[in-house]
Amino acid sequence: MIVTRFAPSPTGYLHLGHAFAAKFAYDKAKESGGRFLLRIEDIDPVRCKPEFTDVLMEDLDWLGLHWDGEPLIQSEHMDYYDSLLTRLKAEGLLYPCVCTRKDIEAENARIGHAPHAGETAVYPGTCRGKRLDLSRYDRYSWRLDVGKAMERIDSPLTFCDETQGETLANPAIFGDIVLARKDTPASYHLCSVADDARQGVTLVTRGIDLFDSTHIHRLLQELLGFNTPKYVHHGLVCNENGQRLEKRNKAVTIRSLRENGLNPDEIFDLAGRSVKI
Ligand code: GLU
Repeated sequence: MIVTRFAPSPTGYLHLGHAFAAKFAYDKAKESGGRFLLRIEDIDPVRCKPEFTDVLMEDLDWLGLHWDGEPLIQSEHMDYYDSLLTRLKAEGLLYPCVCTRKDIEAENARIGHAPHAGETAVYPGTCRGKRLDLSRYDRYSWRLDVGKAMERIDSPLTFCDETQGETLANPAIFGDIVLARKDTPASYHLCSVADDARQGVTLVTRGIDLFDSTHIHRLLQELLGFNTPKYVHHGLVCNENGQRLEKRNKAVTIRSLRENGLNPDEIFDLAGRSVKI
């Protein structure tokens, strides 16, 4: 049975892009009599607000995208994510890092690895192998030692994307990624992988902007012994200038489109016509 999920972060009102993503996941499940699940990715207490969760559930309901079972609210499961981190730490796969963004930029510039415009800086590994006295630092993060983790993997890591086909995973794509911070004790990558497994998701549908994350998710699934779902990375809803919609653009929220008299079918139609691959 196909199980899909919609996994919004409640940092603002849902907009056309979310309507497209949620309908995409819903249709993929329902076309084959499967299940469509809802997950609220609210691990960041600063950016996420419970009132946005209430509104997004109401919007989904109005759109007719009824989810199966109880929604999974990530902020209620921090102990579980922490237990996964403890496992990885015990295996010697995580190390603490005290670098600031500025430190990373300076080190990358020094070694000639400055990212091009729009690229994310790859962590140069400054704190790997250091013995740090963490009691001296107010802020630090836990990074995955990707090189060491890859030594544990026997066969080539691949994933199956419905449009791109079988793809060889390159988990080093972001360098040693952050899996937890002192103030947010779990990261998107860890929680997403853990919950796709825990919710029994068989087909992950999400925007093409998250394609690169799948490389690292494959490694985490392997390290934590989770099943690998299939993937579809879909196009993104864009404005008339071809740019991605932003949460602060009020005109395209489901709320305002609804207030302007559009019905759910018209909203899905508009979203579908604004998708860029
Ligand atoms: N919470 C993510 C977002 O709102 C979605 C992550 C995912 O689908 O894996 O962009």
